[in-house]
Formats: sequence, structure tokens, C-alpha cells
Amino acid sequence: MEAVFETPLKTLDVATALFAPLQKKLDELRENGLYRTFYEFSHISEHPGHTAHGGRVVQVWSGNDYFGLGQHPDLIKAQIESTQLHGTSSGGSRNIGGTSVSHAELEKRIAAWHGKDRALVFSSGYAANFETLSTLIAAIPDMVVFSDRNNHRSLIEGIARTGCAKHVFPHNDHEALDRMLAGYERERPKLIVFESVYSMDGDVAPLGAFFDLAEKHGALTFLDETHAIGLMGPTGAGLAEELNDHRATFVQGVFSKALGTLGGYVAGPDSAIDYVRSHAPGFIFSSTMPQAVLDATLTGLDIVQRGDDLRRGVMDNVIRLKNALRKAGLRFLDGGTHIVPVIVPGGERVHRVSRRLLDEFGIYVAPVTYPSVPKGTERFRVTIAPFRTPEQIEAFVSTLQLCLEQE
Ligand code: PMP
Repeated sequence: MEAVFETPLKTLDVATALFAPLQKKLDELRENGLYRTFYEFSHISEHPGHTAHGGRVVQVWSGNDYFGLGQHPDLIKAQIESTQLHGTSSGGSRNIGGTSVSHAELEKRIAAWHGKDRALVFSSGYAANFETLSTLIAAIPDMVVFSDRNNHRSLIEGIARTGCAKHVFPHNDHEALDRMLAGYERERPKLIVFESVYSMDGDVAPLGAFFDLAEKHGALTFLDETHAIGLMGPTGAGLAEELNDHRATFVQGVFSKALGTLGGYVAGPDSAIDYVRSHAPGFIFSSTMPQAVLDATLTGLDIVQRGDDLRRGVMDNVIRLKNALRKAGLRFLDGGTHIVPVIVPGGERVHRVSRRLLDEFGIYVAPVTYPSVPKGTERFRVTIAPFRTPEQIEAFVSTLQLCLEQE
């Protein structure tokens, strides 16, 4: 029999009163064209870079599954076979039966990939950043943190959680960072936090300059390689590997982008990573990923580590895409990576064009608006996969041009 729950009138009154200001804020978002709507998709496993929406097949031009490995037959096979063997659940947290042999293998391989003592896997990249930073910073008395202005929210929140002394330096500005670091004695514990590839602008950090500053001022470094993992370096280990500069104290990465699955990790010195494993509440008191996801990730890692052709395919297509955008007179940011943001100022406008591209032309490209990017720099965050053909690229750019001209 179906249960019927009745909410007492009084509770409803309290809720209505308390939530009225929230509703007002949501209405304001709608009025300003900032209200978030989620399009509903069903990805199609046989067609990387394609999804289904409203009964039709749609091309995806904004995915973080940069190589389409989430639709790769080897990953799908690994996940199905592992599920058949081990089931769909990890059964608990890492401490309570959730640690599988695949967790151990993946952590060992990740540590070796980045040349660090030890690695720790989390259920998301967000958790890896938040838990590691909030736990480690709180454990070291008087730590001062220096954080790039464009850092991802997971880094910002992890630092903020501790209430430590914090300086935000202008994006990628190593000279400003140098001056800020110089304000402290060498003995004062310091941590510099930055990313290698920034997901909204597609630009790259001056890694060497940051590591030099860390040495000069006696600072630790925390490098988020989320958007470089798979795409940069001879084995896809990221920008540090590409530059052959492995001085980062900590490297963070994810499985949720180029590796085609879900989850994140941090790698670094043995005692620090072991401390996080033993103290981070969001690691200890949270169920871990099922073994099948890790087995698919291990397969993704195999593919990415010998994925020179994938990396070359992406960068060849980036050149094709940028040439086509230039020819069409469309404005884009050229950060030299696989993320090519096309600037379309105006929150409502970028949403309107996105909707039209989807409904009329079967193209999905994500509109990015404030607060993810500054007002006036709204954009399509275009990412390009290695399997896009020159014809698809030409068609995508000319359709985008048409929709923007008809605005
Ligand atoms: N770091 C950066 C730089 C990111 O862009 C993101 C999310 N895209 C994350 C961390 C969080 O990763 P995840 O989506 O796996 O939680």
C-alpha cells in the first residue's frame, strides 16, 4: 500500500516563511537570465561525442570527456565485466570494507605516474581538493596560503574552511606572487595553490616560475592538473610532465575528464597523504566508488598513458577549429589548449543561442555565464575531441556563425 504523508500546517507555514527570500533570489536569477536549466540527455555508447535529446541525436561540443573514453568499448567492457564479478556497490567507506584491490592498484599507478610517494583516490575531484586542502592546512600551525584568483571552487572552499591567513594573487601573475611571498619570513609555513590548465579560459600556468618562487621563499605547492591530465605530457600525466618539471609538492587530478570515468585523487609526500587518509572527514565518513568504476578507470589510464595519437588528434583539431573561427570572424580566447572559449557577451543571449543550436541544429555547446565567468565575458566553452572530422568542424563553426549573426 502506498504511504501517505501529511505535512502539518504549522510546518508548512514555517517553511513558506523561511523560504520566501530564497524564492525571491531564484526569481531574480530568472529575471537576469542567470537561472540554471539542465538539458536532459542520454549519451549514446556507440557514438563518442554524441548524445540523445528530445528524441534526436545531438553532437556534444562542450564535454569534459575530452577523448570520448566514457564511450570507449574497452572501458565499457571493463566496467561491465567488473560489475558482473563484484557487483554495483563498494559496500562502504574505505575503512569499512570498501577498499578493493583495484583501489590499491590505481593508487600505486597514480603515484608512480606523477613520481610521488603516495596517492589517494576520492569519489570526485572536488572532494580530493576540498578534503586535502582543508585537512592539511588545518594540521600545520600558522600556514599562509597563496591562491590564484581563477582557482576552482573546490580549491577556494578547501582553503576557506580552515580560516587560515590567505592571499589571492592575480591570475598567473608570478611577479605579484613573489611580492606577496616576500612579506613573510622564510620560516613561516606557506602553500601556493594553482591549476595547470584553467577550464574557463583554457590558458596555462607558468609552472616553472611558480616552482622557482616556492624554492626561493620556502613554500609548498599544490597543483590541480584536472584539465591537463591525459592531454599533456608524453604519457598524459599533465603539464608538469610536459615541462619535465616535477617540483610540485602535491598533484591533484581527476578521472572524470580525459580518463572517461568518475573520481579524483591527490598524490604527494608519504606522511602528508597518509595524514589525509587518516583524518579527512569527507574521505573517512563517505562511501567509496565501486570496484567496477576503478576497473574502467584503470583501462582508461592504460589508453591515456599510450595515447600519443589521441593527444595529437586533439591538438590537430584545435588548429582546425581556431582557423575556422578566425575565418568566420568569431571571437575566441587562445590559451593554446584543447579548451577554446568562444566569447558571446550577454547571459540571455548566450543561453538563447545555445537553445537554438540544440533545438534546430542538434548541436550542444554549453553556455557559461556569471558567476562562473565575469559579466560581459559570457561564452561557449568549446572543447574539441580527436574524432571530430574537418567537415564537422566546418559545419559547427558555420552554424554558430549563422546563429550569432541572426541574433
Ligand atoms: N578542479 C578543477 C580545476 C575543475 O575544473 C573541477 C571540475 N570540473 C574539479 C577540480 C572537480 O572535479 P570533479 O568534477 O571530478 O569533482
